[in-house]
Amino acid sequence: MPRLMADYFYELDSAAKTGTQKIAWCTSVGPAEILRAMGFLVFFPENHGAALGATRMATDLLPVADARGYSPDICSYLRADIGAYLKGVTPLSKPYPGIETVPKPDVLVFNTNQCRDVQDWFGWYAEQMNVPMLGIHTHCGVNAVTSHHVRSIAVQMEAMIEPLQKIAGQKFDPDELKRVVALSRQCSDLWEKVLNTAANVPSPITFYDMTIHMAPAVVLRGTRQAVDYYRRLLSEIEERLADNVAAVEGERYRIYWEGMPIWGRLRDHAEMFAGLKASVLASTYCNSWVFSAFDPDDPFNSMARAYTELFIVRAEAYKEAYIKRMLEFFKIDGILYHEAKCCPNNSNTRYGMPQRLQSETGIPSLMIYGDLNDLRLLSDEQTKTNVEAFMEQLEETGG
Ligand code: SF4
Repeated sequence: MPRLMADYFYELDSAAKTGTQKIAWCTSVGPAEILRAMGFLVFFPENHGAALGATRMATDLLPVADARGYSPDICSYLRADIGAYLKGVTPLSKPYPGIETVPKPDVLVFNTNQCRDVQDWFGWYAEQMNVPMLGIHTHCGVNAVTSHHVRSIAVQMEAMIEPLQKIAGQKFDPDELKRVVALSRQCSDLWEKVLNTAANVPSPITFYDMTIHMAPAVVLRGTRQAVDYYRRLLSEIEERLADNVAAVEGERYRIYWEGMPIWGRLRDHAEMFAGLKASVLASTYCNSWVFSAFDPDDPFNSMARAYTELFIVRAEAYKEAYIKRMLEFFKIDGILYHEAKCCPNNSNTRYGMPQRLQSETGIPSLMIYGDLNDLRLLSDEQTKTNVEAFMEQLEETGG
């Protein structure tokens, strides 16, 4: 992983410094396949936002964006990232000596399938750096994904080709897009297999492991390197399964994490749960980079479908049915909902879902109030007390 990520970031840095290859910034579930197929190196500001959170640099940077008028109630990836830009810092500098800044883009490409914040975030950079911006506007609250939804998104993707050709300075090659979509599909299938190994008892992996291992699925999908990475990871996990190695020794409770990770507390939380013999082993979040609809023989329509079938795009009824399937598949004893203050899109706690799911499945749940990046919104003591009480509850109910 360190070598893979170093190669990825140094390649971007070198391209930005030498101008040898064009660079596109893309939202995490944006049309990365189109960009790769057109010869762009692809950088993902959300990945940078998560790194700002995990290194806890975000804490000092959020107020910088707040002072520019970005409300403390909106995306803390956006605010940390803009704060980092204004301060001229990046968490990439420490692990990758020589990288002093994020790679300057030639184009910014977003998809609003996850939220509206990405459009405002990229819009700010478009203005600051005087860089063209292209976007896909996706439906929200979708129950069944119909051919109407798919076509309306596919048309927007197709319309990107012409302006991208001009920026890339090269002609679009449909066969190259097929090749990239095929690689993305392989990456997705392997990533899904990795995640599904958590259905074993005991689970060989945890959510905390997977928040790290998901990086290639996010930033390198559509490449051979990502496919090779997950092949190797899967075979290592299969060895662990054969040797009956548990991610949490003495696994007693099997927990589903619903919502964003709290990046600045990954290690603390992994250790806290392991100490309680609780294996947090599955999540909606990590599953969000499973794109089973990708089909190289029908790239535009299948990308449109895959990027619209995402959990975050869907209606409450679909989401509930999805989580129920996950609870059963992973043999879950309890659910932890992370109510992230700045991301309503990834907080499924606000319209009665926890209560409905608990009454339908009998599986107890707990809400953790916090944020993905803004640690000022999290009480560690309160979280610990509540989690310990929740585990006692699971013990009493025979979870
Ligand atoms: S989905 Fe949430 S965390 Fe992600 S960019 Fe949008 S507001 Fe930020």
